[in-house]
Amino acid sequence: MNKTKSISVNACRALLALTFIFSGFVKAIDPLGSQYKIAEYLEAVQLSAYVPDWAQLMLAVGLSAVEFTLGVLLLLAIRRRLASKVTLAFMAVMTAVTLWLTVSDPIQDCGCFGDAIRLTNTQTFLKNVVLLSASIVLTRWPLYQVRFISKTNQWIAFYFTIAFILTASLLSLYHLPIFDFRPYHIGQNIKKGMEIPKGAKQTVYKTTFICEKNGVTKEFTEDNYPYDDSTWVFKDTHQEILEQGYEPPIHDFSITDQQTGDDLTDSILTRDGYTFLLIAPVLERADDSNFGEIDAVYEYAKENGYGFYGLTASTDKAVKHWRDITGAEYPFYTTDGTTLKTVIRSNPGLVLLYKGTIINKWSHNDLPQQDELNAPLSLIETGREPEDRTWTKIVLIIVCYVFPLAFLIAADRIWSWTRWVRKREEWLRQKEDWLKQKEQSNRLYQLLKRKRQMRKKIVAGNWKMNETLQEGVALAKEINESLKAEKPNCDVVICTPFIHLASVAQVLDSSLVGLGAENCADKEKGAYTGEVSAAMVKSTGAQYVILGHSERRQYYGETAEILKEKVRLALANGLKVIFCCGETLEEREAEKQNEVVKAELDGSVFNLTAEEWKSIILAYEPIWAIGTGKTATSDQAQEMLAYIRSIVAEKYGKEVAEETSILYGGSCKASNAPELFAKPDIDGGLIGGASLKAADFKGIIDAWKK
Ligand code: PEP
Repeated sequence: MNKTKSISVNACRALLALTFIFSGFVKAIDPLGSQYKIAEYLEAVQLSAYVPDWAQLMLAVGLSAVEFTLGVLLLLAIRRRLASKVTLAFMAVMTAVTLWLTVSDPIQDCGCFGDAIRLTNTQTFLKNVVLLSASIVLTRWPLYQVRFISKTNQWIAFYFTIAFILTASLLSLYHLPIFDFRPYHIGQNIKKGMEIPKGAKQTVYKTTFICEKNGVTKEFTEDNYPYDDSTWVFKDTHQEILEQGYEPPIHDFSITDQQTGDDLTDSILTRDGYTFLLIAPVLERADDSNFGEIDAVYEYAKENGYGFYGLTASTDKAVKHWRDITGAEYPFYTTDGTTLKTVIRSNPGLVLLYKGTIINKWSHNDLPQQDELNAPLSLIETGREPEDRTWTKIVLIIVCYVFPLAFLIAADRIWSWTRWVRKREEWLRQKEDWLKQKEQSNRLYQLLKRKRQMRKKIVAGNWKMNETLQEGVALAKEINESLKAEKPNCDVVICTPFIHLASVAQVLDSSLVGLGAENCADKEKGAYTGEVSAAMVKSTGAQYVILGHSERRQYYGETAEILKEKVRLALANGLKVIFCCGETLEEREAEKQNEVVKAELDGSVFNLTAEEWKSIILAYEPIWAIGTGKTATSDQAQEMLAYIRSIVAEKYGKEVAEETSILYGGSCKASNAPELFAKPDIDGGLIGGASLKAADFKGIIDAWKK
């Protein structure tokens, strides 16, 4: 299906491209001809008075350049979407115009292909319907057009095409059209061009005469014309073709002497020897800058006995004005303006006839120079028909436009291909690296996963200064019972005030619930009234101690140094330390959290040996989240815990870091625990308020089951 679509789109694109290139080119190389056609259209819609000649000429040059360039864009598939849309719009307008031509017939030839190919209005309309359909197909699937040039270099082709077609237009305008498709080309005998071959079909006309009598107008045909009734006064006549017969290539050439009314066509076209015709369809607008050269040719013609006639469609007044400004002495005769415009695309232009055959033509910019006219025409180049240079011109166009374009396309293809090869190599290399990395990271991931699975998951309660001894024992019992009923998926620890430790130790199943103190002294033993040493804690049956809690740092002035000593003693007495760290709200707002946490760890625990480190559990507790109901988001917590793990890795190596349990603490509840614990670096929680109710605490412990 896609193949069919691709074939159809590319066939439509080729049809449109070649048509546009051809029609744009033949019009571009005949800018004056295109201007005359535009003038005809403007006249048909009665707008010619509003559009000056120069604007018509610019429109002619511009339109043909657009058409040609659009054709090249389609051919090379440059800006496929835009070019397709513009083509569709162009064809929609053209089809509408030619429908109007077909229906109303205001202009005989649409001018689509300049003078190169002439179509009837109906043929043009049908041609446009086909092209419109093709442009609909193109617009529907523009990206099916196969590119010939990469996007990077297509602008070069675009600007080069515009430069080429405008140059071709301007050269044709300054000189004469590069190719002459008109019946008055060099080598054409005008009289012969007017001959109708014997037996050729005659055109049948219907002539209508309009006469008036007593204010009444009536139409007559040749058959009922009132020849005998002189009271009918002839007013007007018009002719209509009933049946088109053979029309010779030249059918409208005549020369009349306006003064005498004599038809001079025959005498001039059969004149022996050479005749110069100065053709100026509209003498009022003829370029008079080269009149000196014209006069010189006239003098030369006079000296050598050659004819020299001016032909124009303008009035006597215009002729007189021309004589006044140029001093012209040659006679002027009248010929139809359209015919003169067809004879030569220059106003004025010079045509040389030899016995009625066109020998040469010159734009007023290229008139024969005096030094060339140094002998009779029969002896010099000017009097000879120039050799047909059609092929030379075609080769020149190929060399100047087609070759560079083809070279550009070839270079672009090679460049694209080498780029593609390089990219492919690069891609293959990247793919290989990626596969290696993937394999590595897979291995790393598996390792981390294993480590994480190996790492202890812990939920530790911190009762703080809550519960009497009896209440505490009852709570411990309740927790113990609920965990007995349903085994936890993590280590569970409850940290109680000192006075509870010994009693609570009695009611806990140590295989289910660990016991810890909330503090211990920074002294080993001795006269420290009110203090409880690490050894004493250990002696109650406790296995853990919380150290570095923010409340102790804040209310009891525990410095990094004091905590360092407490940690040392706790470890020395066989306790596991849950070491807390965390920043205040101001510190977080100042984005100093990492710095603060690192300083706390540096100051109290990073002095430990790797062996001692095995008994350390870290707890990150942002102070602004403790007991405030404000939890750090799971992302904030994960980010900090990952950071803590990274600095542990810097200190003790990746492996130790991967084995270190790091907890989050701060308004952790059964409702937010699952999300927090789902983060890869959060290994559990240190729970304050929510550890004082067995059900709440159990809810958090159960988060590890989800
Ligand atoms: C704590 O004090 O360690 C703590 C995390 O408290 P809370 O859970 O009440 O915020």
